[in-house]
Amino acid sequence: MSKLKDILHIIEELGVVPAENTEKLLELLLSGESLNETDLAEKLEIRINDVRKILYALARLDIVYYTKDKHPEKKWWYVYSWTLDVDKVYVKYIDFLNKELQDRENRLADNTTYFICKKCDRKVEYSDALVTNFKCSRCGKMLKESKRKDARLERAIKKLKKELQKYSIFASKPAAPVSEEGETKKEKKAPAKKAKTKSESKKK
Ligand SMILES: [Zn+2]
Repeated sequence: MSKLKDILHIIEELGVVPAENTEKLLELLLSGESLNETDLAEKLEIRINDVRKILYALARLDIVYYTKDKHPEKKWWYVYSWTLDVDKVYVKYIDFLNKELQDRENRLADNTTYFICKKCDRKVEYSDALVTNFKCSRCGKMLKESKRKDARLERAIKKLKKELQKYSIFASKPAAPVSEEGETKKEKKAPAKKAKTKSESKKK
């Protein structure tokens, strides 16, 4: 998956339905430059208001931010330049996935654990057993824990874990910049000349 497709996938998963031109706008911002609203509108050939709509939707996810400068000619006017924070996209997503996973795992535990009293031949749900301190409310005997399956939740958990694994390389900021395409191994470029300096120069 290209980095652009990756980001589109993520924002959708995070709950933003990409509007028309979102992809193109992201592509422009992916260059790493910050672009002002007028430039973006011109490049995309759409109205500034439509540019803003897209940007505000992305800003709600906290993955784009703007800087504000005084307009060079018009007094009282400001120019808003927008930047995409790619690292944040991944950090946000991993955070989201972890929360979803935790939630599903808790639910799985609640849904699949139940208790039985053999003497009374009755089933007791987890939450009810908790109330009676895991004793049968009829005969007072200790309840026995049992498990049932929840295939739907198990599938959801499996999917979340897979997705987390896929993006785990972004969990902590990588020391070296990822290649432009965001695909680390695909194309083997000729190794750069061994730099003696320790600086990790960031490719534009
Ligand atoms: Zn009982």
